[in-house]
Amino acid sequence: MRAEGARGVASHRGGPASSPRSGAVFVSTWAFGRAANETAVRTLDTGGLLDAVEQGIRVVEADPEEHSVGLGGTPNADGVVQLDACFMDGDGQRAGSVAALEGIAHPISVARRVMEVTPHVMLVGDGARRFALSEGFESADLLTEDRRHRWEAWRRDRREPPSISESHDTIALLGRGADGRLAGGCSTSGQGYKRPGRVGDSPIVGGGLYVDGDVGAAGATGLGESIMRYCGSYRVVDLMARGADPQSACEEAVRHILRRDPRPAEQLSCFFIALDRQGRTGGAGTSGGFSYCVTTGAGSRLIDAEVVTS
Ligand code: ASP
Repeated sequence: MRAEGARGVASHRGGPASSPRSGAVFVSTWAFGRAANETAVRTLDTGGLLDAVEQGIRVVEADPEEHSVGLGGTPNADGVVQLDACFMDGDGQRAGSVAALEGIAHPISVARRVMEVTPHVMLVGDGARRFALSEGFESADLLTEDRRHRWEAWRRDRREPPSISESHDTIALLGRGADGRLAGGCSTSGQGYKRPGRVGDSPIVGGGLYVDGDVGAAGATGLGESIMRYCGSYRVVDLMARGADPQSACEEAVRHILRRDPRPAEQLSCFFIALDRQGRTGGAGTSGGFSYCVTTGAGSRLIDAEVVTS
């Protein structure tokens, strides 16, 4: 594991904790969040909170059976897997992200590296790839046979812009360390068969992810075009900063979008998760079927998010 910076977890405000797991909380999107969260908790035994978030997300990125993230992700309209990811450390308000990254299996690790070794926040496309290679990340073929066949069938039969129901999900993982430190990350292959170069909410700080070390963290999944135009994750954290608990903040952020957007709720497809400094969690979205996983030292719970319709 890499060192977590001069301020390190042990010296973070909140005082020494009895065990790195006690008081730690991880919340992440979808059922695949369980494996991510549980890896994150285990990582705390040997690494810090940033390692935990990164390692948790890497589990989903490495799984070829998850078709919206990393290896085995759904390609764009040209049949190329283009990945978006973001990493944030609430300690010092640090952030790194990559967008439209091709041929690198772990965009979350590249995003963390952008945060840690460059003066920048975001690298995109070929520049992001060249940065990753220069940092020792290996080139990888991310298009599995199964996804290639499906893309070929889509191209043959449809030849239309992708609908919002095409495969798209994001692993967003928010973590609170035993000492109250907050961090988060997210990673996705974005909307299936998207226009090449299309970037969703996930790598946009404040869109698909936002962490304020003094307040809380939020992450998003769903249709990036809906989420990013409202700075969705920033809005959730801002609501918490004004006193809302994580559940109310997620619901109010969804309501805010519903009030302003003329499209019907089922077309908006916005879902938020949140975690505050006290370790409280929440989740809400515009329609049913969205679940999130909360993991503490006591175990994991998969929760159906609250549906907000007006
Ligand atoms: N928000 C992601 C995107 O629009 C996809 C998703 O989470 O479903 O790229």
